Amino acid sequence: MQGLQTAVAHRPRAHGPRRRAVVAQQTPAPPASSALSCSVLVLNRLYMAVHVVNVRRAFGLLCCEMAEVVHFEDGTFGTYSFDSWREMSELRAENKRPEDDWIRAVNFEIQVPRVIRLLRYDRLPKHKLNLNRRNVLARDGHTCQYCGRKFATLQLSIDHVVPRSRGGETTWENVVCACLACNVKKGGRTPKEAHMKLIHPPVRPKRNPLLLLKLNNPKYESWRTWLDGAHWEVGGGG
Ligand SMILES: [Zn+2]
Repeated sequence: MQGLQTAVAHRPRAHGPRRRAVVAQQTPAPPASSALSCSVLVLNRLYMAVHVVNVRRAFGLLCCEMAEVVHFEDGTFGTYSFDSWREMSELRAENKRPEDDWIRAVNFEIQVPRVIRLLRYDRLPKHKLNLNRRNVLARDGHTCQYCGRKFATLQLSIDHVVPRSRGGETTWENVVCACLACNVKKGGRTPKEAHMKLIHPPVRPKRNPLLLLKLNNPKYESWRTWLDGAHWEVGGGG
């Protein structure tokens, strides 16, 4: 990550009273579904997936010519500088597809790219996937691994298959997502003792589960090309 962070320009953050003043002047935040909340996959110079950034960061990299757009359509892909992508957007604006997102600037409209490529970065940083609640819920698809029903985030808990009181560790192989009712029902017992069967035995994910969630969204279909075969290293606990 070190190299990438060096390559990606950081914007200094405002702190304290100054930050509050900025917030107060802001117009209401755009809805979560707006184009600015999209994610953009970042490839290194060798077309290997290295990172995911937000739209603002992606355009920042494009504008200062540190990256180019990689656009996949009809089985082939083309690369575009910021200016040529803007020109291309003008042509495409007449025929917008529902799965595309657009950003309106003062006097032009530009399509949100799904994939960009860093022009001067050819390393492959190691991605460490933390074992935390968010990632476990994503791995298990927000589905209780005992009753098989889907729940909202707040109605789910993390269950230690072998309870901690019995020496069960906090590892990818020993934690699952469980609804509150199932968690209470199971109590401090093993699934066998509680006569509860796991739907899927928990495993360490091979790929970042949050990325998998993105891949299920038709918006990010083009990411598959770059993620299949890419190895996102999955770290241990912590
Ligand atoms: Zn349940």
